[in-house]
Amino acid sequence: MTTLEIPATGYSICYELGIFKQKIVEGQQVELPDDWKGLGSAWLLPKPEEAQEVRFGGTLREFWDDGHLHIVNEGATTVLAIPCDMVVAGYDTHHVNTLRLWDAKSTKPVDMALFSRGEYLKATEEEAMAETIAKILYPEDNHLEGKSLRLKQQYFFVSATVQYIVKKHLDVYGTLKNFHEKNVLQINDTHPALVIPELMRIFIDEAGMNWDEAWSITTQSVAYTNHTVLAEALERWPQNLFEHFLPRIWQITMEISRRWQKRVEDFYHDENKTQRMAIIWGGEVRMANLCIAGGMAVNGVSGLHSEILKKDVFKDAYGMEPWKFQNVTNGIDHRRWLSEINPGLDSLIKDLTGGDDYLMKPLTLRKLDDYADDQTVLDRLGEIKRRNKLDFTDYARRTRGVELNPDAIFDVQVKRLHEYKRQLLNVLHIIALYQKLQDDPNAITRPHTFLFGAKAAPGYAVAKRIIRLINSLADQIAHDPICKDKLQVVFLENYRVSLAERLMPASEVSQQISTAGKEASGTGNMKFMMNGALTVGTLDGANVEMHDVLGDENMFLFGLRADEVAELKREGYIPQRLYNRDPQLRRCLDALRTGFRDGVTYDDLYQRLLFGAGGSPADEYLLLADFQAYCGAERQMVETYQDQRRWNQMSLHNIARSGIFAADRAVAEYADNIWHVPHR
Ligand SMILES: *Cc1c(COP(=O)(O)O)cnc(C)c1O
Repeated sequence: MTTLEIPATGYSICYELGIFKQKIVEGQQVELPDDWKGLGSAWLLPKPEEAQEVRFGGTLREFWDDGHLHIVNEGATTVLAIPCDMVVAGYDTHHVNTLRLWDAKSTKPVDMALFSRGEYLKATEEEAMAETIAKILYPEDNHLEGKSLRLKQQYFFVSATVQYIVKKHLDVYGTLKNFHEKNVLQINDTHPALVIPELMRIFIDEAGMNWDEAWSITTQSVAYTNHTVLAEALERWPQNLFEHFLPRIWQITMEISRRWQKRVEDFYHDENKTQRMAIIWGGEVRMANLCIAGGMAVNGVSGLHSEILKKDVFKDAYGMEPWKFQNVTNGIDHRRWLSEINPGLDSLIKDLTGGDDYLMKPLTLRKLDDYADDQTVLDRLGEIKRRNKLDFTDYARRTRGVELNPDAIFDVQVKRLHEYKRQLLNVLHIIALYQKLQDDPNAITRPHTFLFGAKAAPGYAVAKRIIRLINSLADQIAHDPICKDKLQVVFLENYRVSLAERLMPASEVSQQISTAGKEASGTGNMKFMMNGALTVGTLDGANVEMHDVLGDENMFLFGLRADEVAELKREGYIPQRLYNRDPQLRRCLDALRTGFRDGVTYDDLYQRLLFGAGGSPADEYLLLADFQAYCGAERQMVETYQDQRRWNQMSLHNIARSGIFAADRAVAEYADNIWHVPHR
């Protein structure tokens, strides 16, 4: 947004601890605190003079004055929100934007009376309470954490932000009647959904507007980006948490809900639809429905995902207000994810395209297509990848003590650990390769290194078991002489952006193998593509749009499509049938039960795939259904790798056609189609 010269501010919490640091101890994930501010706070500028007060709890008192009903929140606990600003530079512009992170401080000084009586803990109780709000970032990914602290965090940063934006608007315009003409609040997932009732609260309680005027301005100021269709990740809050911690917000949300429900009833006259579209139902507040009701636009983050929102997840809302539904396919900053991290490739591009135009006009990359038959260019591309693999090999040796084989195919799956992303499918295929090698030590002619990196949410037991399985398998293969210079598995500890920046330029194969229909977009897929890795993937998320520009001939597509997944589930999917029918698959799965040389067995994962467990159905994510197709795609990939000319051609086409996945394009689409603001 800064590069496009759009004035904008990002808002979040100034967490004391970021996402945990991951250590692997005896194959298992251990979480350590990430005290990032030690050095990172050098970039933070506190602005105590712009602090806001955020109120929690208390009771409501109503009274009439001057013919108006007034509502005051009494006996609330006040938490001070102190802005810490980070400057966001763009490329080739004199403008900067701000990322504003709110820190939480108690308003009450330490109770000296208690303190001098020796009741130290009690004396600092209120202070400690306030300050826990900015203590930790919840590490869940695509899963909800229903803790009251999480709700408090959300209201804390939303209320501070909205109060600040409204005040700034009033300072400039002296009225709120034109608020929607001068501001857009883009809700990134449902976590800031409370901006909707918070705007209503301020417009009504503080500016004295009536409901209809406040609602009109609110709904023209807010837009919502949905990031997931996974049911377990759609935010729902128990209404009693609202009632207790946010009494006035609860009152306003109830009224929003009542009016929305009436509109739905009048439109559809269908109780099932009323129930599905309700904002409050069964004692819960459904944040996505609140965002749809309270905003002017709803967008998904890839073409497929946005279609699924309209046809499936929010189909009733789409039927009532089709104009709200849009798509903005995600993008990545190509200046970071190509130019900055891959200087070798950056120089080649500048040589071939005649300068650095591509930095501002990413579609310029398309010119690389013209060199697909230029052997000199193809060789240079191959050498750049080779150099990057050697650099990463050095880095891995230096920092992790692992010895990678730079002659091997670097086949990479790095992303958060989640069952729907199917790291376990990758593992099953590696087990199949290993078993093949045991039957015939000459079965692998091209050395193959599988690299994994993933953090599991600390409470996600299955994800942690899969991490341990990857490490057990890596250890087994490392200790089997049959595998030497043929097969290798490495789990890279503590996968994070700075590791991704080193890894992407060295990657040759990008694993994007989620169950079709489950990944909203993916952005890792784009980073790999831009660095010339070839994708082995399903038609899911933005892989679909990658396929649109690459064609079948420039990626290794496999597996069920989203509609086929839905169809298979409808008719009743029975993975045991595949197990009984396919001896290769059976042998792989049996290896989970047998376990590995470290003595660890994975019967739990075996049971999960064949019979289901803990309320989830057998093989919920269709690993068995896609297994043979996946093995076929990997075989195809390895065969193609033997023809380095062909491989480098494909790699060149991937880089050439990655321009549409530049963030500049995505930001421009938000500016043009949702915010209606000018840009460079
Ligand atoms: C890009 C990125 C992601 C997102 O990866 P997906 O494969 O799209 O899930 C996750 N973590 C890190 C550190 C990243 O850089």
